[in-house]
Amino acid sequence: MTDALAPGSTIGILGGGQLGRMLSVAAARLGLKTHIYEPGAEPPAGQVADRVTTARYDDEGALAAFGKSVDVITYEFENIPTAALDILERLAPIRPNREALRVSQDRLIEKDFIAACQLHVAPHAPVQTAQDLDAAIASIGTPAILKTRRLGYDGKGQARISSPADASAALAAMNGAPSILEGFIAFEREVSVIVARSLDGSVASYHPGENVHVDGILATTTVPARLADDRQAEARRAAQTIVDRLDYVGVMGVEFFVTGNGLVVNEMAPRVHNSGHWTQNGCVIDQFEQHIRAVAGWPLGDGRRHSDVVMQNLIGDDMDRVPELAADPANALHLYGKAEVKPGRKMGHVNRITGPAKS
Ligand code: AMP
Repeated sequence: MTDALAPGSTIGILGGGQLGRMLSVAAARLGLKTHIYEPGAEPPAGQVADRVTTARYDDEGALAAFGKSVDVITYEFENIPTAALDILERLAPIRPNREALRVSQDRLIEKDFIAACQLHVAPHAPVQTAQDLDAAIASIGTPAILKTRRLGYDGKGQARISSPADASAALAAMNGAPSILEGFIAFEREVSVIVARSLDGSVASYHPGENVHVDGILATTTVPARLADDRQAEARRAAQTIVDRLDYVGVMGVEFFVTGNGLVVNEMAPRVHNSGHWTQNGCVIDQFEQHIRAVAGWPLGDGRRHSDVVMQNLIGDDMDRVPELAADPANALHLYGKAEVKPGRKMGHVNRITGPAKS
């Protein structure tokens, strides 16, 4: 642990949502402090962090003061403006590194990077104009999905193209943003692997979780996933290849489509991931502690699963179910302290233990 941060050191976290909140709790358990940087008022992470800076990502003075006050900088979302990173990287190490951010900020660069790792991705083509889209549809076929290259999340910035007649409406939905057409993968299920890599290059991954999305938002993650052992191993190897290639430090979520012909990588998120929340109650060391350990230069913990878990997101009005969920002793509740309930807003999640892990 030569480069390890001593207890009492401060981890700066860009973003103050639920992921920053759960990272702060994990840091506190290890005797580390957190300083949240977040433009929005009253961030969920602010309730549990040591310090909060409320400022925009173009506030150079606030960024500089934040950077000087922390020992390492990490983040809970990938769309951090480059100019902010330019200021911050002179003041403290940024982990995971900027290359991981550069690759994952743009779906086209990300897909090409993953393909260069010798992993399968959906057929795809860049689209800017109506001509590009016609050509892409001609080569990829339909059904397909048009997505903005940048700033998409939870199914936002996406339009389905069932037949070439849908092309112009889909292009209009992109609002002129550079886009990517992806061939539709007729998957049997979706799984994801949460993988961690430490400063000295050791890698630990969790068992794949099986994900169900509703309206583009993750609804549940179930472990174990319905996936043969060799495919589970293949998914974990793929995740390891990605983090090794990036010389990555921290936790990453890698999403896969499972098809009859094998695994297709959908996307990677250079941060703790919603589909890894089950680890809080299924493993001794959860994804949040694993990320804090990695970025603090500590050894990774044991990622083995001791329990089978179903993680269910509590979205919007699901909050009304909290008393009923709390009355069931098999439910571990995690609420994010968000004052206002809005449709589609992630308010918390519940991890339900379904039994001891067999594999
Ligand atoms: P994304 O934001 O790219 O993760 O997409 C959100 C969800 O849309 C995925 O989890 C899938 O359920 C679905 N989806 C995205 N891309 C594709 C694709 N190429 N083929 C089939 N389904 C997709």
